[in-house]
Amino acid sequence: MTLPTSPADASREAWDLIVVGGGVAGLVAANRAAERGRRVLLLEKGEDECYPCNTRFSGGAFHIAMNDVFAPPEQLHDLVMETTGGTADPALLARLIEEAPATLRWLQSHGVRFGRVPAINQQNVLLPLRPNRPGIQWPGRGGDVFVRQMGSWLQRQGGTLWRGATARRLIPAGSRVSGVEVGLASGTTTIVSGQRILLADGGYQADPELLERYVTPAPARLQQRNAGSGNGAGLRMAVALGAALRGMDGGFYGHLLAREALANEALWPFPILDFLAMAGLVVDQGGRRFCDETQGGVYLANAVARLDDPAGAHVIFDDAIWREAGAFRAIPPNPHLILAGGQMHSANSLDQLAGAIGLPPDALLATVDAYHQAWNDDTLTQLNPPRARTLAMARPLRHPPFHAIPLVAGITYTLGGIAVDADARVLRPDGTPIPGLYAAGATTGGLEGGPHSGYVGGLMKSAVFGWLAGDQA
Ligand SMILES: Cc1cc2nc3c(=O)[nH]c(=O)nc-3n(C[C@H](O)[C@H](O)[C@H](O)COP(=O)(O)OP(=O)(O)OC[C@H]3O[C@@H](n4cnc5c(N)ncnc54)[C@H](O)[C@@H]3O)c2cc1C
Repeated sequence: MTLPTSPADASREAWDLIVVGGGVAGLVAANRAAERGRRVLLLEKGEDECYPCNTRFSGGAFHIAMNDVFAPPEQLHDLVMETTGGTADPALLARLIEEAPATLRWLQSHGVRFGRVPAINQQNVLLPLRPNRPGIQWPGRGGDVFVRQMGSWLQRQGGTLWRGATARRLIPAGSRVSGVEVGLASGTTTIVSGQRILLADGGYQADPELLERYVTPAPARLQQRNAGSGNGAGLRMAVALGAALRGMDGGFYGHLLAREALANEALWPFPILDFLAMAGLVVDQGGRRFCDETQGGVYLANAVARLDDPAGAHVIFDDAIWREAGAFRAIPPNPHLILAGGQMHSANSLDQLAGAIGLPPDALLATVDAYHQAWNDDTLTQLNPPRARTLAMARPLRHPPFHAIPLVAGITYTLGGIAVDADARVLRPDGTPIPGLYAAGATTGGLEGGPHSGYVGGLMKSAVFGWLAGDQA
């Protein structure tokens, strides 16, 4: 890892590129610019050599809408448009699809190792794979190795990675940006000057104020399913300089978790309860459905987050669902939730179950009856809210014992953010770029989100637009 530069050294230098944030977006950009002979300074607020960032915590799958990035471009385009309800910016999407294969090859040529995970049908997953165990298992795994490897390259290529350096404010010079005010771990402040500044600070998922404005009425009642390092600093700095935001109503990428994850570290980021919810019913504190369970875990996590009390929902299912959907995919809740100390409430009747979890029994029975009636009449799409999709794993609740797990929305990263063009340049509300200012990764908006909070893929998006920003420098 590059040795921290002293404030005096860093502020004397005129940098070609200053990068804010040492996740995949920032590291790829910094390395790309450095290998092209540019003087690069990467500011990373984390002080520790193993500073937390989402890239380090990630599962490491480089994909586009859960598909192989080498799939036919038209297929990827259609998938993303379907996932995002047609809201993905066509220019950003075209660039992502076009550049993803070359970016992956560039990473491979620098020694990044990828493998396959047939169990979840994923190619291009960073090696070593994370273990199939609940809880956050990052040390020595693909994301961790990647961040360390990219930091070492940067050093070898003459770039500077400065840890314990928090970007606080962008310094304008006329119409362009000319530098960054940096807070240091020592408590002092310095200014660094550069031709170009790249914001790659990773989103606002861990910032209560921005979460309350855009995502949930009760931020403290979400489970932070992330590294806790994305506080919306880039978004605030860019807006202060006149940047536009995009996709702020698109919510976040995340999953349903057991509510006990709020207190039990072993229950996040896995096991996720998405498939149990998609097969069974999700109800609020009043025992009523409030969302279409068939729209998937990211949508459901957002629906739970929008409740007045995001820690007030339950997933309800029967024993057949527990045995099938409950044991589906990697690190499923059956048996990992129980093994990790999580609690599942069970009873031989639905009204006993309602009593056990504090829901009004009449309301829960009415909800289940309406669901069964619609199931029998083949009118699930006419329920309120409807169940719009037909899923093989969905079932009526007919096989006791019946089960319930209290839910919490687990937020991984935010989908909206700074408006950028297909060259990663930051845009004003009138669509013109702010000279010298770039943004990449989870701090940007325009590609992901939409009415169902469509997840396109944080790692691939961040790597491609980081690579483009580094190339521009
Ligand atoms: C558990 C988990 C699993 C995931 N699995 C996958 C997966 O398999 N596939 C996938 O595509 N995506 C996955 N993701 C999402 C993916 O990790 C992120 O979308 C991606 O890593 C974002 O990269 P980034 O560079 O934008 O941000 P980050 O990796 O979060 O890096 C941002 C960096 O900026 C630094 N920073 C913040 N503010 C400042 C400041 N003011 N000054 C200086 N530095 C600052 C932070 O400390 C951090 O190091 C996962 C995420 C998590 C948490």
